Amino acid sequence: MNKLENIDKILIKTAAQDKTGFGEKILCLSVAQNWKEIAGNISDRTAPIKIHEKILFISAESPAVKDSAKFLSKNIVENVNKIVGRGEKIISGIDFGKFFESPPKVPPKIPAQEPEKNIFSKENLEKIILTDEEISECEKKSAGIENEEQRKNLTEIFLSRKKTEKLKLQNGWHKCKICGELCEPEKIICSFCEINERDKMRQRIRKIFYDEPSTTFHKAQDKIFQEMPHMKKECTLSVIESERSSLIRETAARVSFGDKNSDNAKFLVMLLKQVNEKDLTDALIDRAFKELRFNLADRNLSEKS
Ligand SMILES: [Zn+2]
Repeated sequence: MNKLENIDKILIKTAAQDKTGFGEKILCLSVAQNWKEIAGNISDRTAPIKIHEKILFISAESPAVKDSAKFLSKNIVENVNKIVGRGEKIISGIDFGKFFESPPKVPPKIPAQEPEKNIFSKENLEKIILTDEEISECEKKSAGIENEEQRKNLTEIFLSRKKTEKLKLQNGWHKCKICGELCEPEKIICSFCEINERDKMRQRIRKIFYDEPSTTFHKAQDKIFQEMPHMKKECTLSVIESERSSLIRETAARVSFGDKNSDNAKFLVMLLKQVNEKDLTDALIDRAFKELRFNLADRNLSEKS
């Protein structure tokens, strides 16, 4: 095993044992980098999103692709543990997000590979000179490791990270507005934060409808634009519609056909018909219940009746 492979192995091992969440990010990046090899012929229709508590979350392009991924899950788990973990069991299963999303155009990956190849070439990295201060900063970070070889390896990782960081700054990279990690010149926030913010945005959209079920799509969109300007591109009307629909389905599952006066029932009708409570009429409620009859808690009964 050459020295670089050894450093890689230590990094993966350290990441697998890390409990702060940072380790999971490193592992997921590594999975994304090797996705083609891991997921084989479904790799371009799926993408790894995150790793949490040894579960790899995957987004799939369509329900059919999701089924294929499910079918291949044992292979995927084995491949991740073999290719990224190199024998270390870094994941024990896979799962899918609640929503189908097209995989991000460019899966999150450690800056390397195609478009950045030229900027981050070995040649360019070698041209970067670290100051004495920067070097001692890196040495300090690994000073706590007792084993000399491991300490040296870790210092090397920090030194090369520092060099990459300097190179990135020279090439227009800037701090992510949220986490402070460096991100590509054309981005506002980094790929990691994009994933988290997408989650947050979806929750926020639900909260908007939860607080005011009659909110129009455009009004909800305006609110997100104001609160999360960095998500402008992502907050499309179809994303908003999808959140509202799933809120409708979830609420309907808690309401019975005969129950037209509970708070849940009223909320459901207001949400579906985008009206305020004062505009609720019996006729409107009846219509909404008929529309939703297959989503209600006792849908089996209503199907028969
Ligand atoms: Zn970030």
